Amino acid sequence: MKGGEVWVFIEQSGGRSHPVSWELLGEGRRLADSLGGGLSALVMGAGIAHLAREAFESGADRVILIDDPVLERYRNHPYARAMTEVCRKYQPQILLVGATTLGRDLAGTVATELETGLTADCTSLEVDQENGLLRQTRPAFGGNIMATILCKDHRPQMATVRPRVFRMPKLQPGRQGEIVLWPLDLTEDEIPTKVLEVVQEAGAPVYLDKAEIIVSGGRGLGGPQGFEELGHLARALGGTLAASRPAVEAGWISAAHQVGQTGQTVRPKIYIAVGISGAIQHLVGMQNSDVIVAVNSDPEAPILRVATYGLVGDWRRIIPKLTSEFERQLNRPRPQEAEPGLAGRLFQPGLNPGGRKN
Ligand code: FAD
Repeated sequence: MKGGEVWVFIEQSGGRSHPVSWELLGEGRRLADSLGGGLSALVMGAGIAHLAREAFESGADRVILIDDPVLERYRNHPYARAMTEVCRKYQPQILLVGATTLGRDLAGTVATELETGLTADCTSLEVDQENGLLRQTRPAFGGNIMATILCKDHRPQMATVRPRVFRMPKLQPGRQGEIVLWPLDLTEDEIPTKVLEVVQEAGAPVYLDKAEIIVSGGRGLGGPQGFEELGHLARALGGTLAASRPAVEAGWISAAHQVGQTGQTVRPKIYIAVGISGAIQHLVGMQNSDVIVAVNSDPEAPILRVATYGLVGDWRRIIPKLTSEFERQLNRPRPQEAEPGLAGRLFQPGLNPGGRKN
């Protein structure tokens, strides 16, 4: 079954796109070329027509635009209805959705409605050149093996992929395509849920998936004080703190900082792993980092096999030296009175949440 359309859902909130949408569009372009088919971006919301241009410049041949007031804020019912309707009409071969909170909710409902398969949290996607099927690879059995899953008999072949698994595509300014306007036949009265209020979560948000420098700590830190120390290094580098699961489970740092299979997937320019052994469930969340620096007292620790640079020794001796050297070289002296409770704080000068990183 060769040819056919690849579709990518463009997630947005208040008209601002989620970067995973463009990462998936870049991957969708590669898959569509390999299938010999077209690439469509499915843009849904209210007042979101401006996203069509970015979709074309990111590689889409066609934008299916569902612009309706009932789609202003995400609700499962109208979004799933809209996506299901257009899929029934146009029968895409492949439908990719970001594995965000919204995307997971939407993709599960749509796959159920369309009676097709859905592979969640894929880490790689390939088109089988023999039969045109999508080879969807993801960790299985607790992350101990990678399973490749096929959806042979039902369409579309649906997959979710976490942010930062794929690279941002390069923009092609001026690239254009076809826009299909899809009228949604749904009124507010028919929707069972209403959004009464949107409450922002308290505390600083953790933009791990967008961080360019991450300083991450594991069980080897031995306690929450370790994160105080890593916090100084993160501040000196303009980076963000992260952690392995045991550090989160021990309550040394909040769950929003967890990297790995059951945490976030990150793709920073530099990932510094301190006192982290490198279990597969952690590696799947950070192995695509450009440069990995591992600090570990065990020369046999698996993290050293994926590390670009390995520093073997006790972090208590290595990290303070690294920190003071970076503070000196980057001219970022430590504030005179260090604030307590640095762990879990965010240090991201110049970060543009929602911005693109080519
Ligand atoms: P450890 O494996 O205990 O490693 C500690 C490391 O610190 C060791 O390598 C040690 O040599 C080093 N060390 C000790 N003292 C020092 C010192 N003084 N100086 C320098 N180094 C030192 N894990 C995740 O991280 N993220 C996930 O999302 C995740 N999801 C999971 C999902 C499932 C279904 C399962 C089964 C497990 C999951 N895990 C996850 C857990 C994972 O299997 C590992 O147990 C975990 O990653 C280990 O964390 P760690 O490296 O911090 O601790």
